[in-house]
Amino acid sequence: MKESPIWHPFTQHGLGEPIPTLARAEGAILHTSDGQQIIDAISSWWVTTHGHAHPRIAAAIAEQAAVLDQIIFAGWTHGPAEELANGLRALMPESLTRVFFSDSGSTSVEVALKMALGYWLHRGEARHSVVVMDNGYHGDTIGAMSVGARGAFNRAYEPLLFDVTSIPFPSHGAEQHALDALEVACRKGAAAFIVEPLILGAGGMLMYSSQTLADMRRVCARYGTLFIADEVMTGWGRTGTLLACEQAEIEPDILCLSKGLTGGAVPLAVTMASEPVFDAHRSEDRAHMFFHSSSYTANPIACAAANANLAIWRDEPVMPRIASLGEGQAVQLNALATHPAVQNPRQTGTITAFEVGEGSGYLSDLAPRMLALFRERNVLLRPLGNTIYVMPPYCISSEQLDCIYDTIREVIDDVT
Ligand SMILES: *Cc1c(COP(=O)(O)O)cnc(C)c1O
Repeated sequence: MKESPIWHPFTQHGLGEPIPTLARAEGAILHTSDGQQIIDAISSWWVTTHGHAHPRIAAAIAEQAAVLDQIIFAGWTHGPAEELANGLRALMPESLTRVFFSDSGSTSVEVALKMALGYWLHRGEARHSVVVMDNGYHGDTIGAMSVGARGAFNRAYEPLLFDVTSIPFPSHGAEQHALDALEVACRKGAAAFIVEPLILGAGGMLMYSSQTLADMRRVCARYGTLFIADEVMTGWGRTGTLLACEQAEIEPDILCLSKGLTGGAVPLAVTMASEPVFDAHRSEDRAHMFFHSSSYTANPIACAAANANLAIWRDEPVMPRIASLGEGQAVQLNALATHPAVQNPRQTGTITAFEVGEGSGYLSDLAPRMLALFRERNVLLRPLGNTIYVMPPYCISSEQLDCIYDTIREVIDDVT
């Protein structure tokens, strides 16, 4: 067969691994073109919240596409964007009064960083440095990589990544160590601190306490360092509350949202900012405007999908669904935790994670081996190194969840 011209993301084409073709998806099930049914145990890389092809979101997209598909957003506005911005204002923390649109989690982070630096420039204070957390992940563009963990995945670009101040991950018992490091950086005049609240996703599903999140927020407030909450993964109910920040009873200065914003149907992101951040850019001087745009900023079709998502949150029992998924996950994880190869089982809201075996060495090939075995068994799971995590859409049935964990047991037995 002729090779496809497609260059896939995070794929080593040199290994010739199979790339199945998907034909359609509904709820928690993916259908391949050759008739296989696959359980989506990672919400298609953390984006799908209410399930695939939700009828209300699909209808909103179709309807909007026929009315107003795309329009320049500099100097123009439209109904779906206005409705969404007002909806977000009502739903999100009160101090976040402004909504800036972009297209992906990475761009929402770029926008957040640019807002923070603009804030300090226009206030006339020389604050440039950004504080980050070890093992953080904020996206794959150059700025987002700069504030994320360094490793094999960005070695080629390392010389171009800007310097940041890194604080340790606040693992259990070492929280004060991280807080002290943050305090030192803030006291030196850090412009901003960017962090994934409660759980570091791509860094290995590392979880920390809401108390520490609250403490970090307080340290930043004490020194005026802007607190940027990257809730691209944790937002939209993933951690058991609409935002992870809620569990710490904190409000960030800047908030990044993307993955679940449209229910996971089409790309869209927002960066929400507090009034002082917006105000620093508001002026009669054009040179103080916020210099950021992309062609598809606030695309009306994407905004309509997001409005349908907000309507689902309003009208359907989404929180009870999330609570019951959390309970189901807890039962499954408890049962699995007795397996001798399962290390460090942990859970935050709808997300469970654990490590398989210990140490490294032969483990380096464990992830691709497990990935292949999961694929053979028709479950979409994508281990991060030797970390397996389960993050299903909220509509998943208990039978489907059973099936995911039965498969995990089989695969762990196979590889250990
Ligand atoms: C996925 C992710 C991003 C990047 O989002 P993209 O839409 O893939 O660009 C940023 N931050 C966090 C915490 C993420 O999980």
